[in-house]
Amino acid sequence: MQFQKLKRRNKMALFDDIRSGNVYKMYIGGKWVPSSTGQTQDVMTPIDGSVIAKIPRANVKDAEVAIGAAYASRSKIAKMAAVDRAKILAKIGDLIYANINELVDIITLDAGKPKSVSKGEVEATAERFKYAAEEAKQIKGESMLGDSVPWGKEKIGMVMRQPLGVVLAISPFNYPLFIASAKIAPALAAGNSVVCKPASDDPLALLYLARILQEAGVPEGVFNVVTGSGGEIGDFLAASDRISMISFTGSSSVGRRIAEIAIFQKLHLELGGKSPALVLADADLDVAAKQCISGALKYSGQRCDAISRILVEKAVADKFVEKLVAEARTWKMGDPRDESVSIGPLINQKAVDKVDELVKEAGKRGARILLGGRKGKGLYYEPTVLDYVTTDMRIAWEETFGPVAAIMRVNDYEEAIAISNQSRYGLDASVFTQDVDKALDAGMRLEDGTVNINAAPAHGLGNFPFGGDKESGMDREGIKFSVDEMTKIHTIIFNPKKR
Ligand code: NAP
Repeated sequence: MQFQKLKRRNKMALFDDIRSGNVYKMYIGGKWVPSSTGQTQDVMTPIDGSVIAKIPRANVKDAEVAIGAAYASRSKIAKMAAVDRAKILAKIGDLIYANINELVDIITLDAGKPKSVSKGEVEATAERFKYAAEEAKQIKGESMLGDSVPWGKEKIGMVMRQPLGVVLAISPFNYPLFIASAKIAPALAAGNSVVCKPASDDPLALLYLARILQEAGVPEGVFNVVTGSGGEIGDFLAASDRISMISFTGSSSVGRRIAEIAIFQKLHLELGGKSPALVLADADLDVAAKQCISGALKYSGQRCDAISRILVEKAVADKFVEKLVAEARTWKMGDPRDESVSIGPLINQKAVDKVDELVKEAGKRGARILLGGRKGKGLYYEPTVLDYVTTDMRIAWEETFGPVAAIMRVNDYEEAIAISNQSRYGLDASVFTQDVDKALDAGMRLEDGTVNINAAPAHGLGNFPFGGDKESGMDREGIKFSVDEMTKIHTIIFNPKKR
């Protein structure tokens, strides 16, 4: 019944307020506004390079207004009862489902993501909000006695979790709805207000989400979106002393820049990756080939957790490579709006050039290109399988962010572990084996935030913690873990006898 009502509301053009024609507004202080100078920037679809929208190009003044709105409104959400925050979060989840087609279409167009992958992103986002609704009701503290020291015998402490204040959420292009929501949902669940800055490559889905949050009843000023160039307003946002926490997902270089600027803000960084997959001699090679190709090629490899080096034991390498290539051949490249397509374009020209540069360099140093290895038309890059990748090639160490399965043949398990751990990244790893002892041993020794046994990395659920070590970042996301991170400990100590 409720769902039907939401669907009807959807037909009344929920998203009309956020744009006029293809000129979008941003959402600050509960209002849809242009930038203060009226400046806009173009948003292009990577599908064919055409301009699909203009968004406000926020400047420092706009950023200041957004921070001011969030700061002034922080008590509105901090004082809201958990049960009421939970209701709003659950309604956001419902509204996302009610508008799933619009959201899937906008992500597909704006990010060039195949429809099935966009659908997965939207569903995972809705589920995260619903999950956050549950977690909002689970925020707990503890009470403790002071009698561990003679002078504290009478004292009683109440230790509780309080919201931090304003959370700044900066998100990357590759999951424009989901990654921003992995920050927004727990921030609201924990009672914080939020300023969001989406990636300039594909900011539209987040504007749609802002409209959904407005419709679901998030109080004015509690949630704000500023669009525009990170290079122009990023430093200002990150340095603001009215921001209590910065939750950033993006490249290691921008993460490093933010860490240099943010001194008094709590910092959460989700950065780059170079995830290894270890294929051991006893692995089920059919499963390994399928999972490795999905891990390498899904969303054209534009994922921080993409499998971007496959370390296979020489004893089974020929057999495995044959299966891997056969699997890769089933991935069709083309317009991502076509449901049969699984490889769409890359996000921009810089991304295409970087992938091509890494593949060519590997080829020159002796890697064998078994499939693809070429630019397609526009921003497309053919699904590629590289064999005989070695440690002197850039592609063995640098983030590829493209549809490339890079195979390194190793002598044994120990060599696979050693090469994996040499990386400056430490986000995800996969291990394919049927030996439980080896799986456990690798799980303990690999220097990555998550080790997946017999599966490619996947992080849609939100219940498992997610994050990286080394240059892959700081701390862990996941609704429960993020809610903890987005609250602070506050203590009240009673002296009942007043002595
Ligand atoms: P990016 O270039 O670092 O941009 C990320 C965000 O930061 C964008 O919103 C960008 O805005 C903004 N930004 C740029 N300069 C800034 C500055 N000086 N201060 C503050 N913000 C600034 O990353 P991307 O190309 O969008 O995404 C790909 C990267 O993200 C890859 O390295 C990938 O591994 C990483 N990633 C990591 C995870 C994870 O969970 N570990 C998940 C997904 C992606 P503009 O777009 O306006 O420049």
